[in-house]
Amino acid sequence: MTEEANRSLRNQTFIARYGVTPAEASHDMLLQMIEDMFADGLVTEVEPFPETDKEFSKLLDILRPLDANELRKKLVISGWLLEPYGPDKMRCQECMYFLVHKRWCDLPELNLPAKADWWCRLWRI
Ligand code: SF4
Repeated sequence: MTEEANRSLRNQTFIARYGVTPAEASHDMLLQMIEDMFADGLVTEVEPFPETDKEFSKLLDILRPLDANELRKKLVISGWLLEPYGPDKMRCQECMYFLVHKRWCDLPELNLPAKADWWCRLWRI
């Protein structure tokens, strides 16, 4: 299947289930899409955690070209979780990219709704 056919199938799948693609979805609908993916068994790349700026930038370089409809890929690459992570219970709430009132991850390469108790490996303070 070509890249274009893959894209079309992916978008059709979103439209069949939600009536819209992620690029057109409201905040609440995007939250629902994310939660549904995990309910359907999505596993993301939580390791390795990017310890250096170089490792962090490398992940951003992978995420940057993805469009808004590549939601699954964004979640996988960022190591997204719907719960706090690690012994320190790291979570979006304390991350510098989290907009508390908007419940939004403002990291441009993600640019997605998030909940205070969620986490991803691009977490920064
Ligand atoms: S970068 Fe990750 S941890 Fe930080 S707000 Fe965004 S999703 Fe949450």
